[in-house]
Amino acid sequence: MKTKIIVTGGCGYIGSHTVIELIENHFDVVIIDDLSNSTEKTLQRIQKITGVLPTFVNLDLKDENATHTIFETHKDALGVIHFAAHKAVGESVQKPLRYYKNNLYSLLNTLEAQSEHGITNFIFSSSATVYGTPDVLPITEKNETQRPFSPYGNTKKIAEEILDDYSKSNKEFSAISLRYFNPIGAHESGEIGELPNGIPNNLMPYITQTAAGIREKLLVFGNDYPTKDGTPIRDYIHVVDLAKAHVFALNRLLHKEQEKSLEFFNLGTGVGYSVLDVINSFEEVTNSKLNYEITGRREGDVAQLYAATDLAKEKLGWTAKKELNEMIISSWTWEQKYRNETN
Ligand code: UDP
Repeated sequence: MKTKIIVTGGCGYIGSHTVIELIENHFDVVIIDDLSNSTEKTLQRIQKITGVLPTFVNLDLKDENATHTIFETHKDALGVIHFAAHKAVGESVQKPLRYYKNNLYSLLNTLEAQSEHGITNFIFSSSATVYGTPDVLPITEKNETQRPFSPYGNTKKIAEEILDDYSKSNKEFSAISLRYFNPIGAHESGEIGELPNGIPNNLMPYITQTAAGIREKLLVFGNDYPTKDGTPIRDYIHVVDLAKAHVFALNRLLHKEQEKSLEFFNLGTGVGYSVLDVINSFEEVTNSKLNYEITGRREGDVAQLYAATDLAKEKLGWTAKKELNEMIISSWTWEQKYRNETN
């Protein structure tokens, strides 16, 4: 019998890559997704890659009754990986209530429904944004969390606080919160990748869309930061490495190896690259010139964020393997393949 895992947001960018890793590690996956920022076609693409069509439930987790019904149906699941959330930083500043409502109601309904049906293991999709503007680099899990700049980021911080309270109140419940640094890249098959809704917020899809001629030029937000070339430094991690970390975290929960009922792990490579490093690497690997221009700083951006990766290595047995070049090539392959198919 395969172990059943419920993956909320499993049609999304990180969710879909994680579903592939779960299937390849012989888990039986049930995806819950409302397709608000993803497409059902992802299911066929997952099938093309793995040979398995995951079970799919089209459900908005804000719907409490429907969520309970679905968890009743799948109460033989042993764990939940919760990706479902709105994620556009800029939009969250414009529409904070939409973000708080969506990201927190869906979390609360999921926790209630899973607990009611005896599912005790939970993995949460968190973000390095919970560290705010860190005073100490690289960032370890011991760094204080701070109120993130955006409502989106704050939903991640509040969610971690909810998990903290809940795990203390329910001794059966075990959770791991994975704090992602900057996921980029796509599956090597070119079948799945990041599909931003409208104008991308994030650097990598903006670069690939500019190179593909969909955006006129990339704006580089500031070159007056205290970094080697003045542009901000981030810890970019290949989405497939990130996806694999979820399987390691899940196995830690299923094998009851966790030391506390709620644990936090950074998921990054530990290596920081500046915006100009990424642009230069992109130009090098694609042998092309990218149209870009330096402009003013973007509100809320911090100069440097990169992870200490020791804890994930020690406790999960996981490290990121893929280099920046692979991240860039796979992002670009995905962008071109996707455009060819949709044009
Ligand atoms: N960035 C940029 N132009 C863009 C998008 C992003 O210069 O159109 C920069 C941004 O200022 C930051 C880095 O790229 O320094 C990564 O930004 P992203 O939004 O991808 O991730 P974040 O670290 O903000 O979560």
